[in-house]
Amino acid sequence: MAPSTSPDNSRNTLLFERARALIPGGVNSPVRAFKAVGGTPRFVQRAQGAYFWDADGKRYIDYIGSWGPMILGHGHPAVVEAVQKAVLEGFSYGAPTEREVELAEEIVKLVPSIEMLRLVSSGTEATMSVIRLARGATGRSKIIKFEGCYHGHSDALLVKAGSGLATFGSPTSAGVPPEVVQHTLVLEYNHIAQLEEAFAVHGKDIACLMIEPIAGNMNFVRASVPFMKRCRELCTQYGALLVFDEVMTGFRVALGGAQSLFARSIPGFKPDMTALGKVIGGGMPMAAFGGTRAVMEQLAPLGPVYQAGTLSGNPVATACGLATLRELQKPGFYEALGQRTRSLTSGLTKAAAQAGIPFCADSEGGMFGFFLLGTLPQNYATVMTTDSPAFNRFFHAMLDKGVYYAPALYEAGFVSAAHTAEDIAATVEAAAEFFAAR
Ligand SMILES: *Cc1c(COP(=O)(O)O)cnc(C)c1O
Repeated sequence: MAPSTSPDNSRNTLLFERARALIPGGVNSPVRAFKAVGGTPRFVQRAQGAYFWDADGKRYIDYIGSWGPMILGHGHPAVVEAVQKAVLEGFSYGAPTEREVELAEEIVKLVPSIEMLRLVSSGTEATMSVIRLARGATGRSKIIKFEGCYHGHSDALLVKAGSGLATFGSPTSAGVPPEVVQHTLVLEYNHIAQLEEAFAVHGKDIACLMIEPIAGNMNFVRASVPFMKRCRELCTQYGALLVFDEVMTGFRVALGGAQSLFARSIPGFKPDMTALGKVIGGGMPMAAFGGTRAVMEQLAPLGPVYQAGTLSGNPVATACGLATLRELQKPGFYEALGQRTRSLTSGLTKAAAQAGIPFCADSEGGMFGFFLLGTLPQNYATVMTTDSPAFNRFFHAMLDKGVYYAPALYEAGFVSAAHTAEDIAATVEAAAEFFAAR
């Protein structure tokens, strides 16, 4: 299935060989390896605006944006300037800085459910820490997650549904002892009856329910409003914390995150806790978790729940994150971004329809998903009914035409403020050529 390597792809191939000799699979994060789609990963040499260039000098319109962080596009001048200035003042101190306070103030101002927060260096750290905190604050052990949601690679979250309804899950990775996931209950996304049953059986033992409010790790699937409303009600009823994993959606789908969108449909809606990452670092290692003051005060050094990090709140990363968040607050930013993203999904949908190819797409802000399916899926099992060889052909055809989508059908895509109408038109035209030739 893997397409043959063309001679003009020689430096990527060479680098991949060198990488594979020393780095497992040649990559430092699995999805980069192109394992799902076959072929040779492109080694990025540099990036600017909406584009990056690979080791052979080929240009791509970039629809992964470092898997979400690059909402302004690559090398935004205000961000570059802030980072350059910060670097001259030192890389890391292991002592507090004013910029950490500024970033905290900025996040608390923009996300009303967050009264207090802590900065960490990766989304995995944020979600892992928020679970420990939820358990510490409630004195309970069990957690709920949903099939197809990804919350980083900590042990308790690498788990798939067990055999029966409301039974506990089994590890999805070797090296995770079954005992470690025995407190994790894995449910189907958007399945209200199952959720109710899980709370009826385990409610008083559940520390938290963690959810991607718009799931971006099974392509793009929205939690329905009635489902989210029920999540909120049941958590409140049983004293469990509702944790929004907005590592991907935070500042990506709207200035206040996906929670601000649910608050429009559900009066007074707020999660108890939120995990952030990706955009808040603007491309630097930066993430955060926060929520109500009462829960956050359980964290060390104030409270009994331990959490720490040598590089947490790194001064260069905070400079990058702050400069990014400031750009996002310019008037009309999300309206323009959302419109640009919709022009992509509607263009692709039209092109597929003209060729009679089953296709559907959805987007919010600068995040989108498309499916080679007739209707938008509501859960992981349906996402995985996508014809994967067809997706792989599409992916490689687009790659050849200089359009870089996520190299797996279960990943969301990202549009940045740097993508122009011309970039979108070129992308749609490439897809139309491919569809027409099927
Ligand atoms: C990316 C992501 C994570 C993990 O973040 P890392 O920085 O890769 O550790 C967690 N949750 C969601 C929803 C994500 O998209």
